[in-house]
Amino acid sequence: MLDMEQALTLVLERAERRPPVQVEIADALGLVLAGDVSSDIDSPPHDKALMDGYAVRAADLAATGEAVLQVLEEVTAGAVPTQRVGAGTATRIMTGAPLPEGADAVVMVERSELLADSSPPKVRLRDKQATPGMNILRRAKSMRRGEVVLRAGSEIRPIEVGLLAEVGRTQAGVYPRPTVALLSTGDELVPSGQVPEAGRIRNSNGPMLGALAQRAGGAIADLGIARDREDALRERIGQGLRHDVLVLSGGVSMGVADLVPRVLQELGVQQVFHQVRLKPGKPLWFGTAPGKRGATLVFGLPGNPVSSLVCFELFVRPALAQLAGRTAQRFPTQPARMAREHRQRSDRPVFHPARLRQERNAADVELLAWQGSADLRTLAEANCLAHFPPGERTYAPGDAVEVLLL
Ligand code: AMP
Ligand code: MG
Repeated sequence: MLDMEQALTLVLERAERRPPVQVEIADALGLVLAGDVSSDIDSPPHDKALMDGYAVRAADLAATGEAVLQVLEEVTAGAVPTQRVGAGTATRIMTGAPLPEGADAVVMVERSELLADSSPPKVRLRDKQATPGMNILRRAKSMRRGEVVLRAGSEIRPIEVGLLAEVGRTQAGVYPRPTVALLSTGDELVPSGQVPEAGRIRNSNGPMLGALAQRAGGAIADLGIARDREDALRERIGQGLRHDVLVLSGGVSMGVADLVPRVLQELGVQQVFHQVRLKPGKPLWFGTAPGKRGATLVFGLPGNPVSSLVCFELFVRPALAQLAGRTAQRFPTQPARMAREHRQRSDRPVFHPARLRQERNAADVELLAWQGSADLRTLAEANCLAHFPPGERTYAPGDAVEVLLL
């Protein structure tokens, strides 16, 4: 049986990022830039005031830190100055407005006093620190025309959306959101809006996996529930194969109704592996089929909700990241310490739902009393999975343990 490292390598080797597309910058949030972006302007486009105040020649205040100057005009942001500031004069200026010619500093308005009934108007300024360049941002100080301001591979956050707008982009070249088809399989499943009859349960995996895939940057196509019959599976799986990723839940174990691997292979999906040394999650099935914009990745996750979640976090999430042009993180665990004593014994690596609490100097992990891999109720209290390597060991309180945040 494959170990989880090998299994993830096999998945990531097949997760080719999708060809770039152009999207409106308002739709680019969370996506990854496919090419460098350069500025089409100098920013700021002019020497500009960083404060409301008076544009002056610093030399006028140099001797005593004080001067009475004639006020030439008022320049607000968006307007342009019409007069040159010479010795003995000043221009009232607002934050962001272009600095008038001749001026080399801005004295903030808090250090000014407008002299009453002087005509033309005069202002008294007091600023011992007045030096050339004070409260001014020079033209192109933030970026020059033609300069690369965002690199290919950067993730677009709200800040990048703003910067794209500043450099004149209405669209951006990005790797598209991978499309993820979801199919829950099982004769026992009913949609959440129904009260399950005898022998039936509600489909909790479908909505959970949809939410996981959405949060991982996927665009979701929900294919609902398919019964454990070959014809039903064939039809829905056929639809699912039109997407970048098809995530199935259920039907990949060794039971009589576990038909998914056979139907997948009949439809031309090539099996890469079936079963991983992992607990929960051992029945995981993975394969690929040729797709429109790169190989379609097909994950058959075990039907138990906790197994599904673990397999999604370990294998589907990094695959989605890579399809979207990101660097996939391999098992991004972090160190913590056990809150209590715990006896661990398994021949496989175990991911145990747990609650991480940030203490003063470290993070304490409380394992949840987990009733097996169907226990979504307990999982709701978890905010991480504690990772135990295979073997037998008793952990004492305070012992180191790795956790994967949910
Ligand atoms: P399977 O992997 O199909 O053998 O299913 C394993 C267990 O998970 C069974 O107890 C199923 O009833 C349960 N199960 C399968 N699919 C779902 C689902 N979509 N939502 C909740 N439980 C499921
Ligand atoms: Mg089943």
